[in-house]
Amino acid sequence: MADVPSDAPQHCPGTESTDAGKASACAGCPNQTICASGITKQPDPGISLVKEKLSTVRNKLLVLSGKGGVGKSTITSLISRSLALSNPNTNVGVLDIDICGPSQPRILNAIGEQVHQSGSGWSPVYVDDNLSLMSIGFLLASPSDAVIWRGPKKNGMIRQFLSEVDWGTLDYLILDTPPGTSDEHLSAISYLKDAGITGAIIVTTPQQVALLDVRKEIDFCRKVSLPILGVIENMSVFVCPKCKNSAEIFPALTGGARAMAKEFDIELLGSLPLDPLLTKCCDEGKNILTEMPESPTVLLVLEFTESLPYPDTKFGNLNEFAFSVFNT
Ligand code: SF4
Repeated sequence: MADVPSDAPQHCPGTESTDAGKASACAGCPNQTICASGITKQPDPGISLVKEKLSTVRNKLLVLSGKGGVGKSTITSLISRSLALSNPNTNVGVLDIDICGPSQPRILNAIGEQVHQSGSGWSPVYVDDNLSLMSIGFLLASPSDAVIWRGPKKNGMIRQFLSEVDWGTLDYLILDTPPGTSDEHLSAISYLKDAGITGAIIVTTPQQVALLDVRKEIDFCRKVSLPILGVIENMSVFVCPKCKNSAEIFPALTGGARAMAKEFDIELLGSLPLDPLLTKCCDEGKNILTEMPESPTVLLVLEFTESLPYPDTKFGNLNEFAFSVFNT
């Protein structure tokens, strides 16, 4: 490996720079091998294709988690459904790039749906009039089929998802990503470079082992200059649906996501309880927002969705955005 110059930048030098994979900032980065291989330095025509295809998508949000099993896909579906429900004129798309574990077709009740191809690309599956979904799950013969792909093939599929899906005009495209920092993340960020990414929402649970992995996720975002919109703590407490007593299943011994968000100077967007009714709705593909609108979980979801910052819009928050749409 080439010597690292003493004045090398301490932030990501850019995946296409000559220092990619070799700068001091790259030490320990999960993408170091792929960046050092030179693949990312090749000009990729996919970047301009993605930019053109997504020119009608106003905000692109990435939902990330350091660990698997923290409820990232659930949170993705809740944000998407909540945004779509907030206003019938708000168009939302969900792109499930968790290639090895696509769960959006089940959560959004689209198992068994077919993706059709037309002259303008793949048509996403419409879960609702203003909520559409594309997932590798639609391309598998059976939901139990395993996807065993190496990096380049995953990279190619993400490029196709980003450049060949005919979303139409969207206010929000929300990407459900795999846990951790992997090929899929680097591919998505590279291809979206010119199209622009509004920011990332990070999902965690309160216990130390999850928070340790979230720190790596935050570090990754900062290294690739991906803005962090905030963190959502999931499964903060369990409230028994019968006796209503609550218990901390994953004790926040180090202060949970609140303390971590403060330490890293990022916003805590909200905390959600471990709610068996939410789990049941997700397993059955039901929309908890309409099934149980009075549920405390639903009220919390609406609260944090409304507080999401959308720096790519001229409006400060969703309430103002919805207000402006209703009044035009
Ligand atoms: S993504 Fe990681 S390895 Fe690649 S250039 Fe940036 S810091 Fe270096």
